[in-house]
Amino acid sequence: MEQSSINPDTSRNTALFERAKKLIPGGVNSPVRAFKAVGGTPRFVQRAQGAYFWDADGQRYLDYIGSWGPMILGHGHPVVVEAVQKAVLEGFSFGAPTEREVELAEEIVRLVPSLEMVRLVSSGTEAAMSAIRLARGATGRSKIVKFEGCYHGHSDALLVKAGSGLATFGSPTSAGVPPEVVQHTLVLEYNNVAHLEEAFALHGSEVACLIIEPICGNMNFVRASVPFMTRCRELCTQHGALLIFDEVMTGFRVALGGAQSVYAQSIPGFKPDMTVMGKVIGGGMPLAAFGGTRAVMEQLAPLGAVYQAGTLSGNPVATACGLATLHEVQKPGFYDALGARTRSLVAGLTQAAAKAGVPFCGDSEGGMFGFFLLEQLPQNYATVMGTDGLAFNRFFHAMLDRGVYFAPALYEAGFVSSAHSASDIDATVDAAARFFAGN
Ligand SMILES: *Cc1c(COP(=O)(O)O)cnc(C)c1O
Repeated sequence: MEQSSINPDTSRNTALFERAKKLIPGGVNSPVRAFKAVGGTPRFVQRAQGAYFWDADGQRYLDYIGSWGPMILGHGHPVVVEAVQKAVLEGFSFGAPTEREVELAEEIVRLVPSLEMVRLVSSGTEAAMSAIRLARGATGRSKIVKFEGCYHGHSDALLVKAGSGLATFGSPTSAGVPPEVVQHTLVLEYNNVAHLEEAFALHGSEVACLIIEPICGNMNFVRASVPFMTRCRELCTQHGALLIFDEVMTGFRVALGGAQSVYAQSIPGFKPDMTVMGKVIGGGMPLAAFGGTRAVMEQLAPLGAVYQAGTLSGNPVATACGLATLHEVQKPGFYDALGARTRSLVAGLTQAAAKAGVPFCGDSEGGMFGFFLLEQLPQNYATVMGTDGLAFNRFFHAMLDRGVYFAPALYEAGFVSSAHSASDIDATVDAAARFFAGN
């Protein structure tokens, strides 16, 4: 990577942001893009290729966001571009079934052993919301269990934080969500086995499902411990609740079989009952899915009584993009190489910080990583949010000025693609080392 300038020109980004703010609330179409947490001017992306994007001022950035996960092959992968171009010429959307939907469903079911059937939708939010409706319909129960810090999209019942006590249900985290809508959502502390046991002892017979990000990328990067995940599985089975893995971020990102394949290595026979996917399966196009056992999935309309639908569901261009992406990640050694490269980034940053005496730790799985300006990896949301936001912001901006684009908030994970080279990683570590050393 060539040396990037310090304090890049941001005049066109700034002008675009001003224009955007006049018409689009906050100037953005999804809040984290606004740089509110870190301050400064969001970069308006003009184009991207491989591991890089270029902003409206012509500055180049090494991209560790990759559209928040989908771009696992980097931007503009030739095989994916070709598949999309071909699909576009055949038509954008039909509202009638297509062969590619069948192919994509076959591919997903083949690669993720817990799935017997899937339905395709257009966003992770929609997939998680639909999975919960289906879990409620299939069990005839109302209550759901989620964990603080896990994000499952922005549907009403999931915009909720912990109530004042364990026995109490959550309170909304967004205006516009009536308390009655979240009164069936129980919010527990991540990785806290005692809370989990107590909650199931109190409410187990009324719980339709437990939804979890197995490796949580929405509180930076926090893994569910193996004992905790083991208890999640056991308690769901014991109480007749469905265990839903939200693998919108981790699916085809941390391993070919998703995070569930990672836990299956430590917990023999481990499987969730349902899985929610998105991001990588669309390769950057609006596409997501939810799936599970045949017995549960057959309760969906038109077979069953649980309604779910979508005008653009299984869109022919999106499925072409997703299929091409899934074909590429199945090439031999893909995840070994991606995992090794991502580990080398985290190890390099950790060593650079240690050399300068800066507290730092990080973790990764496959092409997903997180780091903290802390001595020890946090285990839950409260610890993540208790970290020094100002120190993170200084690090973020120093890296941005040096042409490295990390997530603009300390509670977000980062992503490495197969287009990131060893020299990209070295340049990143070098830029961080210069910052840690104070120059
Ligand atoms: C991104 C994400 C979602 C929401 O997906 P959208 O496509 O943004 O609606 C849900 N769950 C997890 C774990 C995610 O990372």
